[in-house]
Amino acid sequence: MWIDAHSHINFMPFDQATQTVSVSKNISGWILGGYNPEEWKSQQKLKKKFPRQIWTSAGIHPWVMGRLTSEEWYEALKQLQLLVGEADFIGETGLDKNFDTPESRQEISFKKHIELALSSKKLLILHIVGQHGLALKILKEESSLVQRSVNGLIHGFSGSWEVAQEYINLGFYISIGPGILKENFKKLRETVAKIPLEFLVIESDSPGDFSKTEYLGEKVIPEIAEYVAELQQLNLENVKMQVAKNMKNLLPQWSEDKNG
Ligand SMILES: [Zn+2]
Repeated sequence: MWIDAHSHINFMPFDQATQTVSVSKNISGWILGGYNPEEWKSQQKLKKKFPRQIWTSAGIHPWVMGRLTSEEWYEALKQLQLLVGEADFIGETGLDKNFDTPESRQEISFKKHIELALSSKKLLILHIVGQHGLALKILKEESSLVQRSVNGLIHGFSGSWEVAQEYINLGFYISIGPGILKENFKKLRETVAKIPLEFLVIESDSPGDFSKTEYLGEKVIPEIAEYVAELQQLNLENVKMQVAKNMKNLLPQWSEDKNG
């Protein structure tokens, strides 16, 4: 069984999300990515039903901020602060160059999330696209973050090996998603061939948005794992064992025995 390191099964109607968890044969746990204040409740509802299989995350996605008015944004940050105690992770947060969110707002929000993760002693789920230089600069400026041995994961990573190394040195796991199965993600494939397996986790990032009602992790997580094994010239069982070990560092309260 796998843990899906980044998923949004709570985007699906509750019954369907429940069904997904109940019938899954390949996945025994899901780390959810926080998106906006409206979906935080659906994460908590799912967690209540499956306390040992669901990990929640409080965050305002970089895509969301551009759609909020200043008042809504301020309110969301306020609400976020109230939610932190209940969440397992802080995020997803970060910087995304492709989205029409004013950069200064992304930066302010990113720093706020980092601050909350440090004060609550929780780990971060980061979404960084095309802004690795700035993201790394911001992370390195936080001395308490630099001192922690584990800081969270970089979800849907698609950068270079050099960039991956910098995140690893800062205590982040590199989470590999379905992008690696696409032919045009050549750079990612080269990167994954080089990343030591001790720093890799695997995610579906599924469903990708509220309109999608199908969970692809069941099929795609084993496929990604097989591809990682091929790139690293290892057998699948080794990948499975090491990724499970890595998960224990991200989820100290998780035990494989309990989840089968
Ligand atoms: Zn996500």
